[in-house]
Amino acid sequence: MKRLLILTTLLAATSSAPAQENEVEFKSFQLSDTVYMLKGAGGNVGISAGDDGLYIIDDQVKPVTAQLLDAIKEISDAPIRFVINTHYHYDHTGGNETLGGKGTVIIAHDNIRSRMNSEQVNIFLGSTTPAYPAPALPVLTFNDQISLHLNGESATAYYVANGHTDGDSIIHFPVSNVIHMGDMHFNGLYPFIDLDAGGSIQGMIAAAELGLSLANESTHIIPGHGPLATVEDLENYRAFLAKATANVQQLIDQGLDLQQAIAAEPTKEWDESLGKAWITPAQFVTFIYNSLKGIHHYTPPPADAATAK
Ligand SMILES: [Zn+2]
Repeated sequence: MKRLLILTTLLAATSSAPAQENEVEFKSFQLSDTVYMLKGAGGNVGISAGDDGLYIIDDQVKPVTAQLLDAIKEISDAPIRFVINTHYHYDHTGGNETLGGKGTVIIAHDNIRSRMNSEQVNIFLGSTTPAYPAPALPVLTFNDQISLHLNGESATAYYVANGHTDGDSIIHFPVSNVIHMGDMHFNGLYPFIDLDAGGSIQGMIAAAELGLSLANESTHIIPGHGPLATVEDLENYRAFLAKATANVQQLIDQGLDLQQAIAAEPTKEWDESLGKAWITPAQFVTFIYNSLKGIHHYTPPPADAATAK
């Protein structure tokens, strides 16, 4: 598969992580006769390729668009008919401008189009991003769910309110027995909950529960980030989110403020395994604390609390 050098991937480019050059390798995984997962630079891509043509779920970061399209061509050289964006973050919508310009129909929840069509200020990411150019914008939007009846099955995107952002969907391929969770599932690392864009821990848990309700024991789970997952992984993830939330709620019930809650280490049992890759324990506790208190934006943890361990 193609290799190339690009600027650092994922959301690290606009977080506090220093930019660095990473070598990106695209790798595909066939999950059924027609559905694939493609890993590269940014959110994991879902692909449906069959008799009716080709459509994809998410399209990574903009700098790798040409390489992404090359990697998709190795699965099918049919034109890409549709892109479904799971949410508006740039590491899931980076190929939109190129694809939209070529006539691919971009499908997304109403709130994704609204955010992509206006300037976005994000406290957590420390970023202000301008509106996307017109070809990058979704042209077909939905408010609840939408189904694509192609390649031998009716794949459905289900909106789950206020989870990772306020515009997330998960996509179920019932015949292929695959679910693309978007960034409602970070597999193997603490999830980013974008409070500044309407995210909340309650919605993250609801999304995991919806995914589990659609799954059986052999369903392939495509997470937004991290390796391909099993249903057991998703069940463990749901249980972890619920327990971490209960732990933080207990501290709120005791009257602790955010700084005190972080210092109490309510996520200690997962910090070693999930808190080293990107989102730190202090940041993750802040996501939960603010969600439970109804504070709809990120509040940077005090430096002394974040390093108190
Ligand atoms: Zn995201």
